[in-house]
Amino acid sequence: MKVGIIRCRQTEDICPGTTDFKIAASGQMAFEETGPVEITGFLTCGGCPGKRAVARAKMMVDRGAMAIVLASCISKGNPIGFPCPHFEAMRDAIIRKAGPDIKVIEWTH
Ligand code: SF4
Repeated sequence: MKVGIIRCRQTEDICPGTTDFKIAASGQMAFEETGPVEITGFLTCGGCPGKRAVARAKMMVDRGAMAIVLASCISKGNPIGFPCPHFEAMRDAIIRKAGPDIKVIEWTH
């Protein structure tokens, strides 16, 4: 299965996403249900307030992603304990744009 991952732009200076790649390849944590996945794209939200995440998610769907994953930097605030204040709005807009066939996974690890 192919997935597109969206991450927080505010945390890319302090996290290269190493754990996300590791658990995606091994099918652990948020990927226990899907099993190992292939990463179609690993993009940021584009910066606050995250509106660009919607078009970026759609771009990854157009390139074969069957799920869009919002990394834990967004939903859980990893690694600095500061969740995205726009998480729900971003998630809901992605769900609307991507359509019912695309799964949205709300965390990574
Ligand atoms: S909108 Fe949220 S996910 Fe995007 S940079 Fe801002 S805090 Fe991070």
